[in-house]
Amino acid sequence: MDISFIGATRTVTGSLHLFEHENGKFIVECGMYQGHREEAERINQTFPFKPKDINAVVLSHAHIDHSGNLPNLMKRGFNGPIYCTSATRDIASLLLLDSAKIQENDYAYLNKKRKEKGLPEKEPLYRVEDAERTLKQFRPVAYKESFAPIPGVEVTLYDAGHILGSSIVLIEVDGKRILFSGDLGRKNMPIIRDPVVLKDIDHLIIESTYGGRTHKDFKGMTAEFRTLIERGKKKESKIIIPAFAVERTQLLVTMLKDLYEEGTLKNVPVYVDSPLAASVTDVFRKHPECFDRETYNIFSEGDPFDFPGLIYVRTSEESKRLNAGKGPMIIMSASGMCEGGRVTHHLIHSIENDDNMIVMTGFQARGTLGRALLEHAKIIRIFHDEYRVRAKVFFMGGLSAHADGDDLIEYIHNVRSERLQQVYLVHGDIEEATALRDSLTHDNDLSVTIPQSMTTVSI
Ligand SMILES: [Zn+2]
Ligand SMILES: [Zn+2]
Repeated sequence: MDISFIGATRTVTGSLHLFEHENGKFIVECGMYQGHREEAERINQTFPFKPKDINAVVLSHAHIDHSGNLPNLMKRGFNGPIYCTSATRDIASLLLLDSAKIQENDYAYLNKKRKEKGLPEKEPLYRVEDAERTLKQFRPVAYKESFAPIPGVEVTLYDAGHILGSSIVLIEVDGKRILFSGDLGRKNMPIIRDPVVLKDIDHLIIESTYGGRTHKDFKGMTAEFRTLIERGKKKESKIIIPAFAVERTQLLVTMLKDLYEEGTLKNVPVYVDSPLAASVTDVFRKHPECFDRETYNIFSEGDPFDFPGLIYVRTSEESKRLNAGKGPMIIMSASGMCEGGRVTHHLIHSIENDDNMIVMTGFQARGTLGRALLEHAKIIRIFHDEYRVRAKVFFMGGLSAHADGDDLIEYIHNVRSERLQQVYLVHGDIEEATALRDSLTHDNDLSVTIPQSMTTVSI
């Protein structure tokens, strides 16, 4: 079998891997490359294979950098099954439709501008109808239940501990065992189970997003959250929390539920103001089979994602009403990097008041508004206006859904046996992947490579 590393090589986005066997071809992941528009357009539009020649897709989890180019694959001729867990299918369905709508809107705006300049119109990467057709191709499989994407190849999904439904992918062919980590989570995080360690692996393809970094321990995060909320109560703050709609929002809600139960949230209403996050939370409620024991126990007695004083805001009228509301109150909203969505309106209405607080809870990519806030910019630009940042900005650094450098080293160490021939580091910027490789080759004589895009290996 040949494996080609195509996307998420020496970068964190646009994951794509091609597996070619005498019995057929399948791909693992079909992610969208996210970056500057023209570069992203070029990378996303061209596949280095004919989509109609691909027999099947295996998807590790729903995040757009893993699933986001599937509707384009369909549009260009793919017509096979897409295997993933049912939780992944349900979250991916929401994210792909959302992504298609965003693209239609973006291109409508872009084309208006192009028309004014006399330039020809451009077609979005895909439309809502392409996303809808894609949803019909999903074939949900349970964890630990093997299936054959092509004859002679057996694939099994196991918990990755990253987001709801996420999986590591075991591929067995011709007596060889290949493990693809997808995005690997951390141990002892709330809601979902820990990543599974598999043995007797011959080839390990593993992510390296934070290969050179160490996260703050999650254990201290609830105490940090409590301190921030106590401060907010004294100052009657609006506490704005930009949060990713998948997993981060639900994680924060479970932490806030604990804080509610101990009395910290007395007279502090909590608003989750993101229709997407509310819909994703409904998917969580539909999939208790993905929960860890603690969350499952809470679920069997009630709702882990609800408590008195928590309001999921759906309509834009309700959202606008929050602008005039008085603190203390907590508003959690998307997008997580403040690049769009309702959170931008909450920032506009609260950022110039020094009693208010902005609590960042996740990774902020270079060039985003969230990154500027994190780096304590004094003036920021939202849409076409400038705002003075007077609200206090905080960062809760221990909430990441990715393994850090130490976790990755431990995972590789646990998977390692006499059989392990090669470790491939993917899904990480070159600095992070190199740091991880260096700390691995330092300690033992593992063979570790950081494949470049379009590298093919035969195994
Ligand atoms: Zn992910
Ligand atoms: Zn990813």
